[in-house]
Amino acid sequence: MKVAIIGAGFSGLAAGLELAKNGAEVEIFESQDKVGGLAVGFKEENWDWTAEKFYHHIFTNDSEIISLSIENGIAPKFSRPKTCVYWHQKTYPFDSPIDLLKFPGLNLIDKLRMGLVLAVFKLIPNGKFLERWTAENGLKFLIGENGYKVIWEPLLTGKFSEFSSKVNLAWFWARIKKRTSSLGTFPGGFQTLADRLAGKISGLGGKIHLNIRVDNDDLQNKFDAVLSTHTFFPTPYSLLPTPYLDAHVLFLELNQSFLPPNIYWLNILDRKFPFLVVCEHTNFVGKENFGGKYLLYIGNYLPKNHRLFTLPPEKVVQEFLPWLIKINLEFSRKNIDKYYVFHGKNAQPVMTVNYSRQIPQVKISDKLYGINQAMIYPWDRGINYAAELGKRAARMIINDL
Ligand SMILES: Cc1cc2nc3c(=O)[nH]c(=O)nc-3n(C[C@H](O)[C@H](O)[C@H](O)COP(=O)(O)OP(=O)(O)OC[C@H]3O[C@@H](n4cnc5c(N)ncnc54)[C@H](O)[C@@H]3O)c2cc1C
Repeated sequence: MKVAIIGAGFSGLAAGLELAKNGAEVEIFESQDKVGGLAVGFKEENWDWTAEKFYHHIFTNDSEIISLSIENGIAPKFSRPKTCVYWHQKTYPFDSPIDLLKFPGLNLIDKLRMGLVLAVFKLIPNGKFLERWTAENGLKFLIGENGYKVIWEPLLTGKFSEFSSKVNLAWFWARIKKRTSSLGTFPGGFQTLADRLAGKISGLGGKIHLNIRVDNDDLQNKFDAVLSTHTFFPTPYSLLPTPYLDAHVLFLELNQSFLPPNIYWLNILDRKFPFLVVCEHTNFVGKENFGGKYLLYIGNYLPKNHRLFTLPPEKVVQEFLPWLIKINLEFSRKNIDKYYVFHGKNAQPVMTVNYSRQIPQVKISDKLYGINQAMIYPWDRGINYAAELGKRAARMIINDL
């Protein structure tokens, strides 16, 4: 049984491992120079760990990736770094019911209403039925106009730009349901886990070809089955019927911490800011793993034609700097030792109303199978579901052949 897999992200790696363990001859084709896909990491000379190009963590309930990592000898490490919001020129913790009660931007009724809705969302076992409403209309109705305007509208518009009013309420439910206050990473970084899975596949006789872009048509004659894990499917599924946003990240290596100690994640609620999130990696993962440097991600999801994608990194730094100084008045250009800009293509699918009716089948034709992150709905993208879907597709191929 010869199976080709297109893409060595976590879905391709999980599928490859499952197939190889079941005796298939697996070949994985990856267009990048490393495995890991959107969770890929990179390393400076004086770092012991890799840092992901795009900020990554897992939740304590990400059971598929947790068991896959443990089975392969890498146990995730969990901690409880703080999540905050930036509102009216100040940073407020926003990670628990107590934080919500203390938040000054809402009156007591709004807070109780929002707290109740979020608690009920946590309890609902399956919120798929919520997909018939948009998050905007549903949240305005459930938590009220004010709660929506202050917290969720800026986050939804920041994340989905012109598509924000199209996102459905089931997607929102899944984000609330899934989130845990404890967040996990893998010792060495997510790249270490990706490399370990790739190593296991090779150990079982599988082949991983890097730096090669392939097409399903090239492979179907040579293999018994082809599993495509990239966003763009072959005809007739040339593209899943949903819009995608790209991720834009300015990554800074700093000689001084930017956020207060233990604040990992800062959601910006002021949409005049040119970015959505500031995330201090080294308040989550110790700076000793990165030569004592402080690592900061400044993240955005943007339409593909957004002008930020055309700017050279230096210009992005210049544009963002005055806004960063608004958050931390002591911050200056001389605190930045290095900077990079990363562009993640098709990073965020937009889950529209009644999205479940649009999800294509994994099996596309006799020999061709396709999976991607728009198929894990209602869950949002993540390596946990990438791995789960990869394994499921592999089982399907094993059963079919
Ligand atoms: C900014 C950002 C933050 C995120 N944060 C988190 C997080 O905190 N936790 C979490 O779990 N997830 C997070 N994710 C999501 C996570 O990275 C993805 O869900 C997951 O990596 C998707 O895996 P995949 O295998 O489905 O797809 P991908 O990782 O996209 O892998 C597909 C692979 O296919 C390759 N490829 C494409 N076309 C071809 C071709 N023609 N030939 C050969 N190879 C090809 C690509 O190079 C890529 O390596 C984040 C993503 C982004 C962008």
